Amino acid sequence: MNYLDLRSDTVTKPTPEMREAMAEAEVGDDVYGDDPTVNALQEKAAEMLGKESALFVPSGTMGNLLALLVHCSRGEEVICGDKSHIYVNEAGGMAALGGIYPHPIQNQKDGTLRLDDILASIQPDDQHRTITRLICLENTQNICGGVPLTVEYTNEVGALAKEHGLKLHIDGARLFNAAAALDVDAKELVASADSVTFCLSKGLVAPIGSMLVGTKEFIAKAFRLRKMLGGGMRQVGVVAAAGLISLEKMTGRLGQDHARAKSLFAGLKQVAGLRLAAEPSSNMVYFDLEDSVALTENQIIEEMKNHGVLVDYSAPRQFRLVTHYWVDDAGVEKTVQALRDVLK
Ligand SMILES: *Cc1c(COP(=O)(O)O)cnc(C)c1O
Repeated sequence: MNYLDLRSDTVTKPTPEMREAMAEAEVGDDVYGDDPTVNALQEKAAEMLGKESALFVPSGTMGNLLALLVHCSRGEEVICGDKSHIYVNEAGGMAALGGIYPHPIQNQKDGTLRLDDILASIQPDDQHRTITRLICLENTQNICGGVPLTVEYTNEVGALAKEHGLKLHIDGARLFNAAAALDVDAKELVASADSVTFCLSKGLVAPIGSMLVGTKEFIAKAFRLRKMLGGGMRQVGVVAAAGLISLEKMTGRLGQDHARAKSLFAGLKQVAGLRLAAEPSSNMVYFDLEDSVALTENQIIEEMKNHGVLVDYSAPRQFRLVTHYWVDDAGVEKTVQALRDVLK
């Protein structure tokens, strides 16, 4: 059966055009820096974000870990959101593999970290304390609802970081969703960041891969560490070829996913038993189950599957539905109708 899959935007399978480009990609040994398709992808990514250099990595998690490892030494500290992916969903890699100490502070509902909270978290120069090295922001902020952080806010954090001799990393797994949601150039969103990660494998539809972007010096260090982590990938131009199509053709269409998320939100608002939060600003629709709903999360998932729709829950009694390239207007309608049937 061909399921309609709204569990995430990571489920996006490559388009026929991507598969063709992958089959025909010119390749070389990327560990030698010899893969022309990877090199083209890296140049394009750096250019699109207005940075000097970029590195193709197998996953966003590795991209973030590399950034943390380059910016911080063992025993040094990172200020990050308590709902950030690097803190919650990367298996504690920074601590386990880098000896880096996370200093989580509260993510506000709008995904931001309060400037006062950041300031209060910067350690004083004192032998009892760790050394604060880095601030991490996430854009869009996933757990807060796929909310975008604005250019103004990011620049404020960037200025604060500079003032205190800290680096700023942006986990921009869905950076281009943020750019589309705010109708700004992605460059502007990362102008004050020292490094950025973004995923090709989510709303940008590529099957595999993320980009890490920063200065030449930063990327040179990350290049060595990527080898250490086992991320040197040889003829990986076969994958990078899809990533080039992501950058050329997919970044500009994310607004369609956002419009469909809004119409999904509007449709689900009419379904009894669901409590919807704020209208989505990007491609994620979060809702809670009313107490009156007797079904468990897993029963809903199973029933939805019987209707041909795959969904997943993100917390007890809370679901997250994600629109993407393979969800069209009919798919939005089908999802609303299926939930109505399941909950009636
Ligand atoms: C998906 C995601 C990542 C990591 O990407 P993977 O490719 O799954 O490792 C990092 N940050 C955020 C916010 C994400 O949503």
